[in-house]
Amino acid sequence: MLTPSQTKPQTVFADLGLSSPILKKLERQGYEHPTPIQAGAIPLILAGKDVVGLAQTGTGKTAAFTLPLLQRVQEALDRDSGHENIKRAIRVLILTPTRELAAQIDKAVRNYGENLTTRSACVVGGVNMKRQIKPLKQGVDLLVATPGRLEDLLGQKIITLDWIETVVLDEADQMLDIGFMPAIKRILALTPKARQTLLFSATMPRQIRELANKYMKARWKSPFPRPPKPLTMSPKASCLSPSLTRPRRPLLC
Ligand code: AMP
Repeated sequence: MLTPSQTKPQTVFADLGLSSPILKKLERQGYEHPTPIQAGAIPLILAGKDVVGLAQTGTGKTAAFTLPLLQRVQEALDRDSGHENIKRAIRVLILTPTRELAAQIDKAVRNYGENLTTRSACVVGGVNMKRQIKPLKQGVDLLVATPGRLEDLLGQKIITLDWIETVVLDEADQMLDIGFMPAIKRILALTPKARQTLLFSATMPRQIRELANKYMKARWKSPFPRPPKPLTMSPKASCLSPSLTRPRRPLLC
């Protein structure tokens, strides 16, 4: 006899509202089913909602925000495609704490967007800035950045955040630990208030909850009924109280 969990059909990517070029890419990638964070976040992000995700690396969170954002940017480009001067402005800004994480996200954006006409770039410190400026001047739709280098480029007026539609704060607790919180607040202040904001963090310390409360349209809630357990518990994660790891309220927005 089947148990209830066996009879419940497993979610497939097509159920989440993803477009066919993205579904084809996922098929070629060999992804059969969305991970819990993908199943929870993708429909909300496609609908333009703010999302707070309690998730760490290894849970599929990069695809959880990259796939729907690529789709939204592509839809906007398709809408504008009849116009003579199609707008190539940074619509999506993905902020992440380290060069390594930025490189991984950049690779994922390029990989998942293989069948699309979206353009992306990655700007991080410790790399010749001139080489980073060239693609920016040609126009990109999605920008992956570490906060320090992004502020350098903003200070030199090489880029503007006036056209931002979505900001992703990835690994927010790491950004807090590194001391990026003042920079993040300055950067958010330069983006349109009507933006979509997505925040992903392995832990939810007080400052991150305050950030979410202040800068996001919805008060912080994890859209995931039970956050995936970390493979190895960091000392910080093990300090989390059950009320933080198991949010009482259901879906956000
Ligand atoms: P992340 O948590 O974003 O660092 O992803 C961890 C790894 O899982 C990456 O190598 C992804 O390519 C892979 N991955 C992401 N989503 C899926 C999925 N739905 N099925 C199988 N692998 C996946």
